[in-house]
Amino acid sequence: MPLATTKTNLFGLDREEMERAALELGEDCFRGRQLYHGIYHDLNFHAEAITSLSKRFRGALAAKFQIALPEILERHPSRDGAARYRIQFPDSNAVESVYMPEERRVTLCLSSQAGCAVECRFCFTALMGLIRNLTAGEILGQVCAVIRDQQISSRMRLNVVFMGMGEPLLNVASVMKAVRIMIDQNALGIPLRRITISTSGIVPGIKALAEEPLRPKLAVSLNASTDEQRVSLMPINRKYPLRDLLAACRAYPLGPREVLTFEYVLLASVNDSLPDALRVAKLLRGMRAKVNLIPYNGGPGLPYRPPSFDRVLDFQEALAARGVPAFIRISRGQDVRAACGQLTLEASQKAG
Ligand code: SF4
Repeated sequence: MPLATTKTNLFGLDREEMERAALELGEDCFRGRQLYHGIYHDLNFHAEAITSLSKRFRGALAAKFQIALPEILERHPSRDGAARYRIQFPDSNAVESVYMPEERRVTLCLSSQAGCAVECRFCFTALMGLIRNLTAGEILGQVCAVIRDQQISSRMRLNVVFMGMGEPLLNVASVMKAVRIMIDQNALGIPLRRITISTSGIVPGIKALAEEPLRPKLAVSLNASTDEQRVSLMPINRKYPLRDLLAACRAYPLGPREVLTFEYVLLASVNDSLPDALRVAKLLRGMRAKVNLIPYNGGPGLPYRPPSFDRVLDFQEALAARGVPAFIRISRGQDVRAACGQLTLEASQKAG
C-alpha cells in the first residue's frame, strides 16, 4: 500500500498552483513553471532530479512537498500486447487502466472515478457502486505510471480515452483539469484531438462540455435502439431519455472534420437484431457520427453473451447501407479479464 504522508503532492497541481508553491517557498513564479515542466514534460518524479532548479529550491521542495505517482498493484500483460493495470491510491482505493500499443501509437484507457454510480447492467464496475471521484492528479497519475512502467518513448503517438471505471461527465472538473495538463506543450503535450471522453449519456455533462473552450472528442455509449431497451440496459436512460440525449448530441459543436462517436456494445439476442440496426440508423440520421460496434466481452457473473461474428457483420452492414459508418472494435486484452471493473471486483471479492 502506498505510504500516507502529510506532505502535499505536487503531482496533479496545474501551472498556476505550482507557481504559487514556488512563491510560498520564496522563489520567483518562473521557478514554479520550471517545476511544472520538470514534472509533466520531463517526467521527473523526484524534486532532486529537476536540475534546472536551484539546489536550495529542490531542498525546500523535498522538505514540504512530495511528487508521488499512484502505485501499480497488478499488471496483466495480454497475448495481444495490451496490458491491464490495477492502480492504487494512498487511501487504498484502486482503479483500472489499460495500455494498448499499436505499431506507431499507444492508447491509454483511463478511469475517472473509483467505482461508478451509473448502474449499466453489462458492466462489472457498476456492481461496486460509486466509491469516490478521482482527482486530476490521480487521473494524470494513471498516465504517468503506465508511461513509466512501459517506458513509452516521447516519440510515440499517445491517445487517451476515458473509458475505464467511472462516468467522466460526473467528474468534469477533475477530468478537464487533467485534460488541460495533458494537452499543454509544457506538460505532456498530447494533442486534444487524441483525447476522447466517453459518456453513458449524462445530458447536463454533454452540455457543460459543449461550453468548454478546448474540448476533447466525445463518445456516447448508446447500446440500444429504443428507450425501453436502453432503460433495461442503462437505467440512466430514465433520467436522460434518447430524445434528450440525441438532442444534446445534435447541438454539440464539432470541429471541421470531427464526428461524434456512438459506442454500441452488442449483446447476443438483446440488442443485436436487424431491426435494432435499422432503428439505430434512424436515430442517428443526419448526424455527423460513426458507430463503434463492440461485441460484448464480459466474464462470469453477468447475464449476457457475446453475439456471433456473423451477427456483428450483419449489424455493421445494415448501418453502413443506411449511411452510418460503423466499425467493429474488438476489446484488447481478452485473455486478461477485458471487462472494465473485473480485476477490481475480483480483488475485492478475494479480500472479502
Ligand atoms: S459502463 Fe461506464 S458508466 Fe456504465 S456503469 Fe460501467 S463504468 Fe459506469
